[in-house]
Amino acid sequence: MRIVMLGAPGAGKGTQAKKIAKKYKIPHISTGDIFRANIKNETELGKKAKSYMDQGMLVPDELTISLVIDRFQEPDAQNGYVLDGFPRTIPQAERLDAALKKSGSQIDFAINVDVPDENIIQRMSGRRACVKCGATYHLQYAAPKKDGICDSCGESLILRDDDKPETVEKRLKVYHEQTQPLIDYYAQKNVLKEVDGTQGLEDVFRQIQAILGE
Ligand code: AMP
Repeated sequence: MRIVMLGAPGAGKGTQAKKIAKKYKIPHISTGDIFRANIKNETELGKKAKSYMDQGMLVPDELTISLVIDRFQEPDAQNGYVLDGFPRTIPQAERLDAALKKSGSQIDFAINVDVPDENIIQRMSGRRACVKCGATYHLQYAAPKKDGICDSCGESLILRDDDKPETVEKRLKVYHEQTQPLIDYYAQKNVLKEVDGTQGLEDVFRQIQAILGE
């Protein structure tokens, strides 16, 4: 099962992607996580990506596409995956389709987690991420057991630079301009499925399970 998650930043697609990966036993591939790991390890790619990410801009397609296509070649991705944060532009989607076509496969579901802009900024200001392991929390919806401390590794939690309100506004603008057209792109391919992302986490997941099957 090959799944693409669509939705504005902060719509909760990352959280749902992790739940899908666990239930359907497929890898969760997040370009944001790959970039953040590179930033942490101070790689060349990380240095380049950081300058765009901190400004709420997209990392250029030429740095992003080959990264994901390489990841598909790995053994764990042969029976499917859930893509979170990729594709984010029409050229990325076209390159993805071309790579899949070569191996005789295609995207089976593009799930759009729909949340209006009004809700997004408020949601993002409550997000917290672990400085060490990258685990994410939400002060309202998925609070850590101990204030400001990561449940998994005990390190401190922070508001990521790219989740700060001024950056979120920019990211939303970029989303509407560059990523939202993917909704039509996948609708034309008859694989688009819409879920109401304003519901609670478990309710959203129930909507997704109704689409993917038990
Ligand atoms: P995310 O964690 O998916 O919200 O991604 C965080 C940031 O990483 C984005 O705001 C972009 O700057 C960058 N990024 C992640 N995925 C992509 C992509 N497919 N294309 C370009 N930039 C991306």
